[in-house]
Amino acid sequence: MADKTEQWAGKTIHAGGEWLEAVSGATREIIDPADALPFAVVAEGDEKDTDIAVAAARAAFDGGDGADGEGIGGAGVRGEGVWPRTPVTERAALLRRVADLLVRDRERLGLLESRDAGKTVEEGRVDIDCVADAFRYFADLVAAEAPGRVVDAGTPDVHSVVVHEPVGVCALITPWNYPLLQASWKIAPALAAGNTFVVKPSEITPLTTIALIDLLVEAGLPAGVANIVTGPGHTVGARLAEHPDVDLVSFTGGLISGTKVAQAAAVTVKKVALELGGKNPNVVFADACATEEGFDTAVDQALNAAFIHSGQVCSAGSRLIVEETVRERFVAELARRAERIRLGRGTEDGVECGPLVSEQQRAKTESYVAAALAEGAVLRSGGKRPEPTATRPATGYFYEPTVLDQCHREMTVVREEVFGPVLTVETFRTEDEAVALANDTEYGLAGAVWTADAGRARRVAGRLRHGTVWINDFHPYLPQAEWGGFGKSGVGRELGPAGLAEYREAKHVYQNLAPRPVRWFAG
Ligand code: NAD
Repeated sequence: MADKTEQWAGKTIHAGGEWLEAVSGATREIIDPADALPFAVVAEGDEKDTDIAVAAARAAFDGGDGADGEGIGGAGVRGEGVWPRTPVTERAALLRRVADLLVRDRERLGLLESRDAGKTVEEGRVDIDCVADAFRYFADLVAAEAPGRVVDAGTPDVHSVVVHEPVGVCALITPWNYPLLQASWKIAPALAAGNTFVVKPSEITPLTTIALIDLLVEAGLPAGVANIVTGPGHTVGARLAEHPDVDLVSFTGGLISGTKVAQAAAVTVKKVALELGGKNPNVVFADACATEEGFDTAVDQALNAAFIHSGQVCSAGSRLIVEETVRERFVAELARRAERIRLGRGTEDGVECGPLVSEQQRAKTESYVAAALAEGAVLRSGGKRPEPTATRPATGYFYEPTVLDQCHREMTVVREEVFGPVLTVETFRTEDEAVALANDTEYGLAGAVWTADAGRARRVAGRLRHGTVWINDFHPYLPQAEWGGFGKSGVGRELGPAGLAEYREAKHVYQNLAPRPVRWFAG
């Protein structure tokens, strides 16, 4: 892994089939959050590099002189590049080859994701498995589709069919928490649908996305179809969102950046898909805790919901909403287990949770906890940086899993996304109150209900205004099922058939089999 990252040495912009340095020559060190030491160097691209990559993607989509690596900027005919015209079965076969290469490189990529994002190596491996699954899913989905939908025009003299075509050049902007997974939810359907793309990974975790571009090339993707620009959001990301030659922007990240992307994209009326944040309720009814096994499961999953990847998960169950009668027992056990979570460098054996991704993210977490305590929350566990150990260097961005009791909906920590290991506890007495609390958020990404009452489970799930609702579970997703949010959690969906539809235009082809004058005008 070290060899590979050294080999990149600042040549991490891929445009028109070539690895390039930034036009400005600028570079950025990539930091291991476990010790704050640099371990790779990437190009720090800006607007100029972005324009070069967009031109390459445009040429590959449109064909003509610039297509397929023979130079950039040649005029083509929209949508007549090699990739958009590649038969669906061949596109699907290429995606499956990519999945196989991901499996081959699972160990290398899992380790790279662990060092870059601070997660444990096991989490990194699982991420890579999920990335391979996404490529396989979209390959299967397009390969199994009918080429078009015949529409009954109400007369035998008309043949009417709706077909789908790629949108064009897609700008794909991704966050740092699940770097390659979030990228794959965009790249796999974009390619399956026949688009070309420019991906901009988070500037702090670009490494596995860079590595994926190599795998796409190895799998046989024509030059210019897959492009990457490493660099900051306010330059590279902003330029992608406003660029007149980009047809679609798909963004995953925070609400503030997402709003800016939507505003910039509106000027050129691009298609926009936004996967934003969440403030996700985990509702626990007392009946779910009636047996020892039920209690143990609900506590265990509440812990997992809030603290996996140090809570840096868009769908983290960061709001525990528990029935008043079981609150004390539940929170006491939760806090006891939270204190036992083994924090350390993600590459060390036995570590259960890594550091936060950056000093900035830890400072943000600390300020939310301080504000919550000032507003009356009661600290039940964590609330501070852990003592350094051999597996937990003093320079790393560690923060203890934190349980805040006695919270209420007026508190900032209950309303805003912390994106750190902080769980707030609220209580309810009735089902209506539980639902009202769970829906009392400007977001609407995901939520869970824990109950032994099957009727209540369905009733509550039906009333929750969230894009994913788990009943007696937390966190699983399926590539076949749409992922996305209500409210300010976003616009559009990833995964599932809707996740492919984002990358397509529908075209209605209406053929008159027996043309005659209509005589609307007398002539
Ligand atoms: P972020 O918004 O800071 O950055 C996300 C990406 O956008 C980065 O690549 C960044 O460089 C870029 N960016 C920043 N400003 C931009 C601008 N003005 N124009 C264009 N691009 C810009 O988010 P983050 O801190 O990297 O990630 C955390 C956020 O992502 C959280 O809010 C989390 O909930 C969200 N997220 C959502 C999902 C989901 O599926 N809904 C998944 C993962 C993460």
